[in-house]
Amino acid sequence: MQLRYSFRLYPSAGQRIGLARAFGCARVVYNDALRVRETARGEGLPFPKTGDLSKQLITEAKSRPERAWLGEVSAVVLQQSLRDLDAAYKNFFDGLKGRRPRMGAPRYKSRKDTRQAVRFTANARWSITTGQKLRLPKIGDLKVKWSRSLPSTPSTVTVVKDSAGRYFASFVVETGPDEIWPQTTPEVGIDLGLGHFAVLSDGRKIDSPRFLRRAAKRLRKAQRALSRKEKGSKNRDKVRIRVARAHARVADARREFHHQLSTRLIRENQAIAVENLAVKGLARTRLAKSVHDAGWSAFVTMLEYKAARYGRTLIRIGRFEPTSQVCSQCGFKDGPKPLHVRVWTCGACGAVLDRDINAAVNVAKAAGLAVTACGAQVRRAPVPAPRSEAGTHSTPQLPTAR
Ligand SMILES: [Zn+2]
Repeated sequence: MQLRYSFRLYPSAGQRIGLARAFGCARVVYNDALRVRETARGEGLPFPKTGDLSKQLITEAKSRPERAWLGEVSAVVLQQSLRDLDAAYKNFFDGLKGRRPRMGAPRYKSRKDTRQAVRFTANARWSITTGQKLRLPKIGDLKVKWSRSLPSTPSTVTVVKDSAGRYFASFVVETGPDEIWPQTTPEVGIDLGLGHFAVLSDGRKIDSPRFLRRAAKRLRKAQRALSRKEKGSKNRDKVRIRVARAHARVADARREFHHQLSTRLIRENQAIAVENLAVKGLARTRLAKSVHDAGWSAFVTMLEYKAARYGRTLIRIGRFEPTSQVCSQCGFKDGPKPLHVRVWTCGACGAVLDRDINAAVNVAKAAGLAVTACGAQVRRAPVPAPRSEAGTHSTPQLPTAR
């Protein structure tokens, strides 16, 4: 399978100029092509082909004085920019045909965009030098911070400048079957807890690290301060970069947390079941913030590719079952429970159930996993409790797993 590996880049002042030129030229070609296609669309003409655009907007344009500077950057970067436009159109058209969620038509790129990127394929003859530098055509040998080793030789590298002004090299790497881990037996269901990042069917509740929650809080404060600053002022620009850096740090820390947790879960379990949350549906509710903050879908994506990579199984179940309403012990559907009800007693079998763990067990069962449900049960009540007593307001929290 194909994976991305990202590393921080430290270009020199001269190389930064070269990269800025590459970003700029890629942007101009993208916008030129977008203009040609939109004009054709407006006039009811056939959709201009990528090959023709490449010839007209790259090869021929270089001979015109007002576009001569396109020759100063690698032609591959410009061709890849056209591919990006193709992908944007494909997504747009697929949305119109109902093959994926609807999205807007491709938009013009601006030098003020917070993320700038160029892509070099194998054709561009980029390389990693014997001195472990990244050699890019017409830019030079860039210093890379190799934070881990690449499992194989990458085919493509994308150079990105983010809103915090940092540079990254993102490599596409093919991983092989030699990475499959030995089989193991445990299987687990995961529920997106409301008070926790995740709750496992084996009874563990996992929180986001405290430093991440604190950093997110500080960031919200900084964001508010930024919105009070006058638009276009020098001071606002300074604050904007500071906020962008803080954003980048929080995003990095969150990704690291997701990586560690997903690797651990994939290592420990042969099969993992998660709910296929319609995050878009939730976005309309007040849960939205916590769902997005928790970055649940980014986490599930990691679980998915790591499962494929290491020979494990990830099962997504649809959100049809009301997992928090059904007793995981006997299957009795006990009706909706308000969010503040953390523990309830099954009206049929008398099991006392922790809301989140019970949901995680139900997720696992819906996926057909063989989980031991003991964790879901806090204790077994001797007599089924009357319906009016089913549910308590506050319960002591179980220890947090790290
Ligand atoms: Zn029951």
